[in-house]
Amino acid sequence: MDAREECACPDCHCEVHADSVVHKGLLYCCEACATGHSEGEHCQHEGCDCAGEPAE
Ligand SMILES: [Zn+2]
Ligand SMILES: [Zn+2]
Ligand SMILES: [Zn+2]
Repeated sequence: MDAREECACPDCHCEVHADSVVHKGLLYCCEACATGHSEGEHCQHEGCDCAGEPAE
């Protein structure tokens, strides 16, 4: 069975894939999550507010 994996970013629930970003052994959906949003970059997935700023 396929275990669906989620991004390792604590507030992100986006699905990750084989070509997702690996950082320190964890799998992230995008580079922004992989860097912990240190530069305030938003998740590449629309509607995902894991970067910390509340959605409208
Ligand atoms: Zn996300
Ligand atoms: Zn993510
Ligand atoms: Zn994130």
